[in-house]
Amino acid sequence: MKILVINCGSSSVKFKLFEMPEEKLISYGNVEKIGEEISIFKYYGKVNFEKKLKINNHQEGLELIANALLENEIKSIKEIKGVGHRVVHGGEGFNSSVRINDEVIKKIEDHLFLAPLHNPHNLAGIKGCMKLFPESIQVASFDTAFHTTIPKISFLYALPYDFYQKYKIRRYGFHGISHRYVARRAAEIMGKEKYEINAITCHLGNGCSVTAVKNGKSYDTSMGFTPLEGLIMGTRSGDIDPGAILYLLENLNLKPNEINELLNKKSGLIGISGISNDFRNLLPLYNKDEKVTLAIDMFCYRLKKYIGSYIAALGLVHAIVFTGGIGENVSLVREKSLENMDVFGIEIDKAKNEKIVGKEGKISKETSKIKIFVIPTNEELRIAFDTYQIISNS
Ligand code: ADP
Repeated sequence: MKILVINCGSSSVKFKLFEMPEEKLISYGNVEKIGEEISIFKYYGKVNFEKKLKINNHQEGLELIANALLENEIKSIKEIKGVGHRVVHGGEGFNSSVRINDEVIKKIEDHLFLAPLHNPHNLAGIKGCMKLFPESIQVASFDTAFHTTIPKISFLYALPYDFYQKYKIRRYGFHGISHRYVARRAAEIMGKEKYEINAITCHLGNGCSVTAVKNGKSYDTSMGFTPLEGLIMGTRSGDIDPGAILYLLENLNLKPNEINELLNKKSGLIGISGISNDFRNLLPLYNKDEKVTLAIDMFCYRLKKYIGSYIAALGLVHAIVFTGGIGENVSLVREKSLENMDVFGIEIDKAKNEKIVGKEGKISKETSKIKIFVIPTNEELRIAFDTYQIISNS
């Protein structure tokens, strides 16, 4: 059964076409820079190409993808039995992937205010695919769903309780599709059932978050009401005293949109280093450029503090998992964020750690009580799997 997975960002559409349940990737690619002077369409499958052209909106991008699939991989649109969509914010309403109907669309629309940068594009992708693939079952997979098991003691902020009830201000958590995928995979590698594992999963990509997984379920996570809280990220500050924001508002007269830009786009690795948000550009300058070194050291220190606090929250931890572009590729971050933690039963094997780049592997010493893994994430495959299951059960 062919399942198409669609991930619509603000100016991009990523896609992957799978044969399920074989988990075979048939083709993949993306449309980038939608709405700009020159957009890019990259396609990999029976043929590979990269085209530069003008793509005005998500709908046009989706049409290009559908046509390329028709030309190269399928004879009829009807062959695509299901389309799985990544949706960033499902609020408290969705604790698993769901088949999309009018009620689901209404609920996603009701939550647009919680993720104004993401959900409108996700919704555009859903509506576009409903037109292009009218006979396919459409499924939504939410980044927040895995975190709906987080208990109140960890999801509430200590604001007056009304603010939660009236305005829905609470920790939601993100990257749930990835945290769930790697937690399940870690359980599999360790020969455990999915609800037997306690793990700390570190998703380190453009956005970064860490999750405490207790008995296979999310128990706490570093991202909060928005994807800004928690770890230091490429361009985001992560945790900061809200008092500093009040100071900027009151004394420097920064406007809310300027503060938004400051915290989301100009902070984190790029803010401290002044050079780049991308580890590929920063790593060659580590221990050579003072601010780059500081940015990387701060990034690792913040992560280490979260890992320590989640060990305290969980008590028993079987595994620590690194994933995402940085988690999978940057051995320095894995080493520095876990150094001198023998007292917690964490012993990283430096030689193994250096060898595992962009692939799955165990990087802890045999004596380490807590096992440490690198597990490449595959959010699209997880969405394809959920879509396949929903179709099979309907
Ligand atoms: P996203 O969060 O958008 O899915 P990724 O998980 O691909 O993104 O992570 C992107 C980030 O990962 C880049 O900004 C870069 O810092 C880092 N990264 C990706 N590949 C490498 C690599 N080979 N070496 C070092 N850093 C990498």
